[in-house]
Amino acid sequence: MNNPWLSLVIPVFNEQENLHELIQRCLAVFTTLEKPFEIILVDDGSHDDSVTMITQAAEENRGQVIGILLNRNYGQHAAVMAGLAESRGEVVVTLDADLQNPPEEIPKLLAPIEAGCDVVGSIRKNRQDSLFRRLSSRLINKAVQQATGVMMHDYGCMLRAYRRPIVDAMLQCHERSTFIPVLANSFADKTDEVEVTHAGRAKDESKYNLWKLINLQFDLLTSMTTFPLRLLSILGGVISLAGFAFSFLLLASRLLFGAAWAAEGVFTIFAVLFIFVGVQLLAMGLMGEYIGRIYSDVRARPRYFIKKRVGQELESSSSADNTVLKTVINE
Ligand code: UDP
Ligand code: MG
Repeated sequence: MNNPWLSLVIPVFNEQENLHELIQRCLAVFTTLEKPFEIILVDDGSHDDSVTMITQAAEENRGQVIGILLNRNYGQHAAVMAGLAESRGEVVVTLDADLQNPPEEIPKLLAPIEAGCDVVGSIRKNRQDSLFRRLSSRLINKAVQQATGVMMHDYGCMLRAYRRPIVDAMLQCHERSTFIPVLANSFADKTDEVEVTHAGRAKDESKYNLWKLINLQFDLLTSMTTFPLRLLSILGGVISLAGFAFSFLLLASRLLFGAAWAAEGVFTIFAVLFIFVGVQLLAMGLMGEYIGRIYSDVRARPRYFIKKRVGQELESSSSADNTVLKTVINE
């Protein structure tokens, strides 16, 4: 069987309200492209009807819609990685299942790809998210730009297109905590960005609660750079210098004004101590973030586990069974 030219990878987590429309709209867009394509829906352990809907869509559109069902919830980026590993297209596009980015915008991304770009990102026009989400992602975008040296305005938007070599490079990275857009940019040579429209979540809530969001930000931070560690040492140096200066000041005052003055300064010292303790705790917490990730990488568990494949041609599904088997044996 010939490989498709385009693979669309969509992570799905409890998206039963959106799935039907999503699949129909994607199929409509791709039919107009007149190039062989595949739509890979990766179910990230949904508890709702998503699995049945994906299975049904895969059976109705054999060879065009492929369902990859993970055995539990691994998180959006792990699910996308699972989809990337299954994809065969020369060009791979990722998209969220929530229809916040309309599938009709995909052809816009393909133009720069055909012009020779490795990675094409997207910028959300009049973004429909809460102020908190907008502010936090602005901060993050700035940090990523600093760290990877690649200028992109919007790292949060998952509507993105990658060329096959970039996808292959990403698949060779074995760290567990990945943030795909940043990972891709670290391999990309030529990149581009296009503006896409962004709608509010039509039918339900964001699948990210505060906790998952915090986790994602730490993933991003630790996956792209160890600069915070250096920042810690710089900060530590500055603070201890200030501490030294302060103790000299205290000593001088003690000599100048006598013991009575120094006794009243006890609380100042306490205050200073508290600051130090606080900073140390902060430093330990951040190092803990890295160590936690080292720990999970050292354990080297499979990033995800495919429970079942649906809608693939027979030939590839038998080799697929082998991979599942292999992973089980490795365990
Ligand atoms: N998602 C996932 N696993 C998760 C959380 C989210 O596969 O644990 C999927 C979700 O179904 C959607 C995409 O990731 O397709 C983005 O999620 P969402 O729209 O909730 O994120 P937001 O728009 O708030 O960034
Ligand atoms: Mg969304």
